[in-house]
Amino acid sequence: MNAVAEQIADIGPGAGRLARLGLAMRRYRNAIIAAQWLVVLAYLALVAVPAFLPLPPDQTHIWNNLTRFAQFMFWGVWWPFVILSIMALGRVWCGVLCPEGALSEWVSRYGLGRGIPRWMKWGGWPFVAFVMTTVFGQMTSVYEYPKPALLILGGSTLAAIAVGLIWGREKRVWCRHLCPVSGVFGLLAKIAPVHFKVDQSAWGAAPAGHRTSRQHVVNCAPLINIRRMESASACHMCGRCAGERDAVQLALRSPNTEIVGAGSHARETDRWPARLLVFGMLGVALGAFQWSASPWFVAAKQATAGWLVDRELWWPLNEAGHWWLLTYYPEANDVFTWLDGGMLLAYIATETLVVGGWMWGWLRLAAMLTGLPWQRLALTLIPFAGSSVFVGLSLLTTSQLAGEGIVLPWAHGVRIGLLALATLWSASLAWLLAKRNRAVAALGISMAAALPFAAWGTQFLAW
Ligand code: SF4
Repeated sequence: MNAVAEQIADIGPGAGRLARLGLAMRRYRNAIIAAQWLVVLAYLALVAVPAFLPLPPDQTHIWNNLTRFAQFMFWGVWWPFVILSIMALGRVWCGVLCPEGALSEWVSRYGLGRGIPRWMKWGGWPFVAFVMTTVFGQMTSVYEYPKPALLILGGSTLAAIAVGLIWGREKRVWCRHLCPVSGVFGLLAKIAPVHFKVDQSAWGAAPAGHRTSRQHVVNCAPLINIRRMESASACHMCGRCAGERDAVQLALRSPNTEIVGAGSHARETDRWPARLLVFGMLGVALGAFQWSASPWFVAAKQATAGWLVDRELWWPLNEAGHWWLLTYYPEANDVFTWLDGGMLLAYIATETLVVGGWMWGWLRLAAMLTGLPWQRLALTLIPFAGSSVFVGLSLLTTSQLAGEGIVLPWAHGVRIGLLALATLWSASLAWLLAKRNRAVAALGISMAAALPFAAWGTQFLAW
């Protein structure tokens, strides 16, 4: 019996099933690798094959057309529930199932193994990559057509493979520094109630040469200094370090711990995660979810079209872009002109500035009155931001189900309830975090959330 197996056997019932599960993840790593390869094969088939098939006729369904099935799996199931899973379980998706991470790590075994360049460590990449893929996805209608899905998802996968081939050895350099959703996942994982907990004193007390298993030297693919790991943000929950030096175990924690717990004051005052939260998840993403339902978008487009006609500027009204830049499906009567594309960008930019600016203003004010850095106060909005992204993605789930005749009339009510509870949670985090003017902190966070909440309420109740 190897040391990990002994640990699983030795661990008493008091240590709990979670710790045993963590150790089992390490011991049965081959099962995880097998699951990863199954997901890789399914992912590659679902992302690639529909792009070479004709668009599905109207009378086809999720269960009898591959393109519709792939759309439902990617946008109706995968995205919303990955977001939920990360808030509930940490980045298990990344470490156990993500095909891009698995491919990037696998090819890096055979690649050049170069050191990570300085430019790649710039903290703004997750923000830039998230904004670009979100906006590009809207311009090409990625949720509706398989070709842009192949372009965006497949392009991201190719980039992950290329990064793996050049940088790192058996590592996930792509996931750590460049993946378009790693920043969002890193924020959401902060409120997960399970994590790999590191007992630093136990680690230090272990004999220098001690390893849990002689056969398994820990390879932390996302390049974490495990001994010093205090945050679940970067941890992919792969389980490879479970039981290491008798100091690492899968454990429960309060979902508030990482935002307000002891030691949180020393953590992350980096501005980029806060910018991603305020201007990305609650700015750009909100604009992307709302523009197509907005009567204001239609009114602004009509006004702009009238202005262009008055000046006899016809090309923005008549000319369409290529499918890889702007939606172009004449066979489905769905073509974006340059005016459509320009208005879409303007709408998302405006909503980003208005909503993000509103939130940022309240955060700065609350920060000034409580003496906290605004970027730390911003982290209290993670429950609200995560719920907002889930609510937006769930619209795709329910609209696809409605297309199949499954209407969920209670869905909007549940969404509003979820956002209300998330607002309360965020406000309570601000209360707990602030050491003075707690009511001001809670009120500031409530006010910050009020505008995006009102934006969702307007969409659900008025549009
Ligand atoms: S710290 Fe690294 S090795 Fe340990 S579970 Fe997280 S990602 Fe895996």
